[in-house]
Amino acid sequence: MKKYIGAHVSAAGGVQNAPENAHNIGAKAFALFTKNQRQWRAKALDKKTIDAFKRNCEKFGYSPDHILPHDSYLINLGHPDKEGLAKSREAFVDEMQRCEQLGLNRLNFHPGSHLNRIEADECLTRIAESINIALENSAGVTAVIENTAGQGTNLGFDFVHIAAIIDQVDDKSRVGVCIDTCHAWAAGYDLLTPEGYAETWRQFDEIIGAKYLMGIHLNDAKKPMGSHVDRHESIGKGTIGPEAFVRMMKDPRFDNIPIILETPNDEIWAEEIAMLYGWEE
Ligand SMILES: [Zn+2]
Ligand SMILES: [Zn+2]
Repeated sequence: MKKYIGAHVSAAGGVQNAPENAHNIGAKAFALFTKNQRQWRAKALDKKTIDAFKRNCEKFGYSPDHILPHDSYLINLGHPDKEGLAKSREAFVDEMQRCEQLGLNRLNFHPGSHLNRIEADECLTRIAESINIALENSAGVTAVIENTAGQGTNLGFDFVHIAAIIDQVDDKSRVGVCIDTCHAWAAGYDLLTPEGYAETWRQFDEIIGAKYLMGIHLNDAKKPMGSHVDRHESIGKGTIGPEAFVRMMKDPRFDNIPIILETPNDEIWAEEIAMLYGWEE
């Protein structure tokens, strides 16, 4: 098996609990928040927590290459206001440093929103500058940009946006991309028909570059293709349907990177993971 499939598991009680939560659902990869995702401030990680996290990752067999932490939802790295931007940048540096302390090598985030107050291009430039600041203030952690559904004023739904951000990042060895299948579908990228699927990934390679792919969020969608609405559904039960996911499980482009479920019913994650591994064979 070359696929590393898991889910965004709970870190309730401390990040050190996430590896066991992943193990309990048969995951070979996992995502987590390293702090409460709905609060700006968090207390610093102490040595005891860091040691326990690393010990549990080793105990349950998780390499940093298969762990994809997610940043806080409050952060907007392309914020139009000076104050909002400074607050977001400070929080993002803190998130990068927390990953570094935990021995992790990548941090997944949503690029940002222009809030109808600045032009999209200006927002993309701010996001790239925010990434540059974060990379200067951390070591060993790659900033992994997630594509979005394009809901509201969120940028990053078009592969061209992601390419424009990467283009303005100084250290391209520490920037990557995570493709969320629900978001891609909602943004209008076909994954269902064989031709559409081939074309979507061809465009990814041509516009962004295949080498930047460092993670997948594997989600079915509640809304139709091109809806720009971000509503996840369990695998095979949504508008994308099972065929696209069967195809992905057999596609070597997704070997050896974390493939993370963010599907709504966590009670069936173990089943979903087993089903996906069944499709890999
Ligand atoms: Zn996602
Ligand atoms: Zn989403």
